[in-house]
Amino acid sequence: MNSFSKGALYVVATPIGNLDDLSRRAMDTLAQADLIAAEDTRHSVRLLDHIGVRVPLVSLHEHNETSRIERIRQALDDGQRVALISDAGTPLISDPGYRLVQALREADYTVIPIPGPSALITALSAAGLPTERFLFEGFLPAKSSGRRQRLSDVVELPVTIVLYESPHRIRQLLEDIEIVFGERHLVVARELTKTFETFLQGTASTLLARMMDDPDQMRGEFVVMMAPAPEKAPADSGQIDGDQLLSSLLEEGVGVKQSASVATRILGGRKSDWYQRAQAIKDGGFCN
Ligand code: SAM
Repeated sequence: MNSFSKGALYVVATPIGNLDDLSRRAMDTLAQADLIAAEDTRHSVRLLDHIGVRVPLVSLHEHNETSRIERIRQALDDGQRVALISDAGTPLISDPGYRLVQALREADYTVIPIPGPSALITALSAAGLPTERFLFEGFLPAKSSGRRQRLSDVVELPVTIVLYESPHRIRQLLEDIEIVFGERHLVVARELTKTFETFLQGTASTLLARMMDDPDQMRGEFVVMMAPAPEKAPADSGQIDGDQLLSSLLEEGVGVKQSASVATRILGGRKSDWYQRAQAIKDGGFCN
């Protein structure tokens, strides 16, 4: 049996679908809490009823988090054990709680994580994509222009990219991924730990076709993962000399940026490297 410190905040991960994923330690922590701060108290009552826990609840969501900090500090000062939970998964991971934890850490309160499910790690653990390096981008902006910009920012990274998406925007997200990532391999995890858990893989266009064919595949909650960009050195490929190609393009009056795009498309590698190379050639210097 664990011992629970008084005057501490416990950040407790809860299930992302299957209630049996609530850990024993999470259950004990919730049962022994004096106060539970929950993103949506009505939603969390169902979980707490399921495990037979009756503890006073206070809401803590993105619109009241700042004003709740004082209330929770007061409870901690009174020696209470406070648990923080979100609607699903690990608090602070695309969920409220960061400002609270930051404020408590700054004031030297004890903050104890009680680890458990998170859609991000659950999806990665079964996707079959490289996991030594990955970038979690969470939810992309709601507007297509902002979304495409964020996708362009990461398209050349040699790491797995992980996104969260709701059913309302999954189709638009995949359409934008198709534009920016082209034929890149994707894995889409849906309804993790729930009855209709599905992993689909393919390119954005094949996945879109699959979803159009079977609209049920667009229901539920999604984690979208893109395979890393292939690592290629911006070196000469076959008979084509990269510097010669750039020089010829520049001589023909093609701009530095466009020359770098053409070189990337033909020879591979990073656009930023080709850009620097093209700029150096244009400036009259030859860099190595
Ligand atoms: N804190 C949560 C976590 O640790 O994963 C994430 C909360 S965020 C508000 C909700 C998003 O997480 C969903 O829109 C979806 O992208 C992802 N998600 C949560 N549960 C999921 C599940 N069971 N299957 C797939 N994705 C899920």
